[in-house]
Amino acid sequence: MRITRRTGLKFIAASAAAAFPALPAVAGSPAASGKGTRLILLGTGGGPTPLPGRNQPANVLLVNDEPYVIDAGNGVARQLMLAGIGAHRVGKIFITHHHDDHNADMGTLMGLAWSNGRAAPSDAFGPPGTEAMVAAFIDYFEPNAAVRRAFSGGKKPPRDLFRGHDVTASGPVFEDDNVRVTCIENTHYPNHGQKDGAHHVSYSYRFETADRVVVFSGDTAASAELAELAKGADVLVHEVINAERTEALFKKKFAEQGRSPEEIARVLKAVIAIHTPLEDVGRLAESASVKTLVLNHFVPGFDPEETAEGWTAGVKKHYAGKIIVGEDLMEI
Ligand SMILES: [Zn+2]
Repeated sequence: MRITRRTGLKFIAASAAAAFPALPAVAGSPAASGKGTRLILLGTGGGPTPLPGRNQPANVLLVNDEPYVIDAGNGVARQLMLAGIGAHRVGKIFITHHHDDHNADMGTLMGLAWSNGRAAPSDAFGPPGTEAMVAAFIDYFEPNAAVRRAFSGGKKPPRDLFRGHDVTASGPVFEDDNVRVTCIENTHYPNHGQKDGAHHVSYSYRFETADRVVVFSGDTAASAELAELAKGADVLVHEVINAERTEALFKKKFAEQGRSPEEIARVLKAVIAIHTPLEDVGRLAESASVKTLVLNHFVPGFDPEETAEGWTAGVKKHYAGKIIVGEDLMEI
């Protein structure tokens, strides 16, 4: 069946159960046995500017101890190490969209896995462009791979192991014994679907395991499709923007970068339009009846006056469930 963007949501609602048989139940204590589903936030800052207190966007779901990485911003391998997960263990990467705060280390993570002994395949899933990016990374990586193979021998060439997969529409993305993953196209890119906009696709992902449903908004403006995808989730990891503070702090940052007043005004307007304001995050979480809302991808992520209350006050006006203000390396 060909899944178009328009039919994708209907497809999820109507046939997800048929497309994916029920996963087996997992017994025992998740933390003690390595069984079950653990979520660790690896990087919670928003945007491509390196930040002092928050790393670039990335998350990992450990399902029965198998890592599934969602977004691979710069530094993801180091964050994984700090979370106790060696890069060599990562074989599944899901990219929400092709902004470099989300994909900068996609190839690098595959490469580091290989250099650290991974001999099994590495797969990356993401919007159109992912397959070509992995192919390009294999070329970029080749001099290193050739030298290492010459001296250590026995290693399979990355070309046989690194695989990129373009997700071309909302609907099913991936399934194995641990998870089934579905996605919807969200509203981060206002020009999606236009001619020459093949890369202008931004996804939100839903991960269903035997014991948990975890949804990642990725970057998005308020999205009715995302509310549908997040229905009844145990955990919704949602991006957030504080528009007032963004305006104040970004004006200063952009001026320091030497941008013209016209460019500053244009970029600021765009930044605010493509993310979700505090109150809308609350509205969405309430309408989707999610059990726990985790705020992440903070914009701005470098506010010296940042407080937990500052991030939650607007959300709480509309959402009565549990709210967690995300921090790097927090486990949920
Ligand atoms: Zn982002």
